[in-house]
Amino acid sequence: MATRGGYGRLEIKELIDLHVHSSASDGSFPPAEVVRLAKEGGLTAMALTDHDTVDGLPEALAAGEHLGLEIIPGVEISAQFPGGTMHILGLFVDYHNGLLDERLAVLKQARLDRNPQIIAKLNALGIPITMARVEEISGGGQVGRPHIARALMESGYVRDLQEAFDKYLGWRKPGYVSKFRFPPDQALAMIREAKGIPVLAHPFTLNQGSAYALRNLVIELKGQGLAGLEVFYSDHTREQQALYLKLAQELDLLITGGSDYHGLNKPEISLGSIPCQDRLTYNLVTALKAWRRREYQLGG
Ligand SMILES: [Zn+2]
Ligand SMILES: [Zn+2]
Repeated sequence: MATRGGYGRLEIKELIDLHVHSSASDGSFPPAEVVRLAKEGGLTAMALTDHDTVDGLPEALAAGEHLGLEIIPGVEISAQFPGGTMHILGLFVDYHNGLLDERLAVLKQARLDRNPQIIAKLNALGIPITMARVEEISGGGQVGRPHIARALMESGYVRDLQEAFDKYLGWRKPGYVSKFRFPPDQALAMIREAKGIPVLAHPFTLNQGSAYALRNLVIELKGQGLAGLEVFYSDHTREQQALYLKLAQELDLLITGGSDYHGLNKPEISLGSIPCQDRLTYNLVTALKAWRRREYQLGG
């Protein structure tokens, strides 16, 4: 039961976070550490949703079991659509599923191939950065452009990460290499194949320009298997949140929410904490579970 807090705000019981990254992708903390922090922060459930990988899930689930925190196995897949990149969360995925595994392996290989190509381009520009150093900087997780950006910083070629992307690593810059991504319908299918719940993450990043355009895109995605919308999110304004909530209700989509926690790599974001957290409670998880039982005809 919610009670009034000292500042007139609802004090929240059963706080959850359905969008969290660990060092298995681009978060700064290992999965077990993220789980420990979530437990310490008073969360009752947390989904680990690393980019294009489920590698952090066994460690997170074991830590959750040990500490008494419900861990929802998840993933966040980057898909390519005509407007750019779209992030699709898969919640409650069976991460032992063969097709999911196979497709994530394709993405992993694409990632592995891309980094040396970027470094070769930078080397050709006279910048002597090595893959070995970039791997060292990554500290053992997924290696990607942020680590290359840090290598550029420490060699004095740029002042900060933003400049690294603006000058070298961003789209159409001299160190840019495109990356293979699945189209949305295939990303949705691989999540469904693994009995997961496909959710469109942070819809504002799709840059649809108008609510009408976004609505049409979401309708199209729903036709391809989309089941939910990430309504509550760290960077959503009140207006965006209200718009997505209305859209989810109109189109009969599940409602989810999460912080997109990345640890020290996005220090302004804390676990389970979003501006409108009065809605981010366990009842969302209950609805997700009920949908999943019905949709995949699971027992229990
Ligand atoms: Zn995302
Ligand atoms: Zn994310």
